[in-house]
Amino acid sequence: MGKPRQLLKSIEPRADESVQSIAMRLAPRALVTPNELLRYGLGLSAGFPSLPTDVKAVLRLGELGGFAPTEMMSRAILPGRLGYMVLEREVPANWLSFAVRRVAPSVLRDDKDTPFHRLSWQLTALDCDLASGEALVHRCPSCGALLTWSKIETVVTCGCCRFDIRNAASRYVPADRLSLARRLYQFLLRSGPPLPESFDRLDDVTACYAMEWFAYFRNCGGSGKALCPSAQNAVFGLEDLYSWPDSFDSALFELEDLGKSGYGYGRKCDIFSTSQGRNVLLIRRLNHDACSSSRKIRLLGHAPRISSYEMYRLGWTVSA
Ligand SMILES: [Zn+2]
Repeated sequence: MGKPRQLLKSIEPRADESVQSIAMRLAPRALVTPNELLRYGLGLSAGFPSLPTDVKAVLRLGELGGFAPTEMMSRAILPGRLGYMVLEREVPANWLSFAVRRVAPSVLRDDKDTPFHRLSWQLTALDCDLASGEALVHRCPSCGALLTWSKIETVVTCGCCRFDIRNAASRYVPADRLSLARRLYQFLLRSGPPLPESFDRLDDVTACYAMEWFAYFRNCGGSGKALCPSAQNAVFGLEDLYSWPDSFDSALFELEDLGKSGYGYGRKCDIFSTSQGRNVLLIRRLNHDACSSSRKIRLLGHAPRISSYEMYRLGWTVSA
């Protein structure tokens, strides 16, 4: 395939617009379908979900549209050492949604004649549009099908039933949830305050997992909503990272209270003994260990998915 030539008529990429959205809006200017643009214009046969991760395709798209390489690369989501590089951080793979198209119906409606998909909507750790607080939807409000990138010519259409998602009802997250999401976004942009030193020196992916882990243990008492560490709960854990080590102490005390009342530990142990033995170890230790500062670090060594290697590298003790 030769070098793609720049289109005579292009578009103006919007701030925070995703590369998939740019490709979808550019396709009509090249008189092709979005999939034809990917396959024949960018040499990408794998389809839209893999577009932001393919550096060659992203740069070719930039050449076609006449956009600066740096601008295109700032919208790419490239594989990193442990996860994916997005914005100014590396995040775990489960923090990103590639195949599923998450959108905010009212925001698309307010885009008027240029509806576009945002880069930040691909982060599963953020459950709302950051400007408006509108909750993101990932299923068609009409037919219930997952919104994906296949069989669509614009980002507002359901590929299954052709429903225009802009006609869906809007739902907004509570103000405190929006402010947590914005704070996490600042962390990803490196525009917020630095994490405490213990976490700042970690790689980003481990810090992200620590957020998931904190959120899980902090929320496991009252509501029971956090059934496992997940990207969706991570926003709650960021605050705990900022208030480390006090947050860790209070997490332990909360769990201890639950243990005394006979609720929580046993059930969670049962759940994890099937899939996550490390968590069982952690919870057993919470039951038996005193809460001295050296022990705290050992306990964190057993947190889910924070590898022993990372602990070793940081000079943290991992007990047997
Ligand atoms: Zn539908």
